[in-house]
Amino acid sequence: MLEPLHACNLSCVGCGRIREYEDSISSKLSLEECIQSVDECEAPVVSLCGGEPLMYPQIDVLVQEIIKRKRHIYLCSNGVLVSKVIERFQPSPYLLFNIHLDGTKDYHDKIVMQKGVFDKAIHAIKMLKEAGFQVCTNTTIYRDTDTADVIRLFSMLTELNVDGILISPAYGFEECDPSIFLDRNDIKEKFRRIDESSSQFSWYSTPIYRDFLKGDKDLECSLWANVTRNLSGWKAPCYLITDGHFDTYKDLKEQVQWENYGPGKDKRCSNCMSHVGFEPTVALGTQNTLLDTMKLISWNLFN
Ligand code: SF4
Repeated sequence: MLEPLHACNLSCVGCGRIREYEDSISSKLSLEECIQSVDECEAPVVSLCGGEPLMYPQIDVLVQEIIKRKRHIYLCSNGVLVSKVIERFQPSPYLLFNIHLDGTKDYHDKIVMQKGVFDKAIHAIKMLKEAGFQVCTNTTIYRDTDTADVIRLFSMLTELNVDGILISPAYGFEECDPSIFLDRNDIKEKFRRIDESSSQFSWYSTPIYRDFLKGDKDLECSLWANVTRNLSGWKAPCYLITDGHFDTYKDLKEQVQWENYGPGKDKRCSNCMSHVGFEPTVALGTQNTLLDTMKLISWNLFN
């Protein structure tokens, strides 16, 4: 996760970033710092996030540099600026636009606290698909998310031919209103309801992670496999909670006591079932059974 800046053109109710990093909201990593971070970590996938990464002035150059290194990019965006910057990008098998949508029009606009954003995001998806880009979407589930509304959204996205749908329960950031977040039992109940219609949709979230969200499988958190670099340095221990920042990836890797984090080890992790910690566990395969492996093969071939 590379956050070139924390500035955003929206102020979503569940966003911890714009609140935690309020003091450095107008600062940016230099292009050289971004590229150096990509080289330092050697992660095969770089998720460009923030803030709104399309507000980063050299975002197109940064994307080109990462593609030159044959790394895959998830370019995360709320979609609002896509029509203004699309000409600066070329479709590539290494580049995937990831558009944030938490529900259909009324709910999404309420969550992002601005009317018209849903329509702009849908317009962005259509533009990107017509121009030949790969597009996925990312939906965060909150306490007041209506599962029927999410299913309507996913049907709409499937009709728009998005390449995949990502889903995750929101993490309960300390800086946000705690009443908007779900605990583990609520998460399982909501995801069981969403999953009843799951076979109709083209998922990027793996079937094993979705089993975990429904409470059908237990997974440990692999926080070390999905690290974050931002303006303050390499964020420890994970994308969601902050105990400090390190100057180098090597220091982060060697000095964080990774075994001290995860559900049952740190109370801030108790209700966390976020994809940032648990999808890497599926990818690593450390807890996958034979049946899980077969599900993953089928998902890769037929999804
Ligand atoms: S469970 Fe993992 S990803 Fe979630 S807050 Fe804890 S360390 Fe971070």
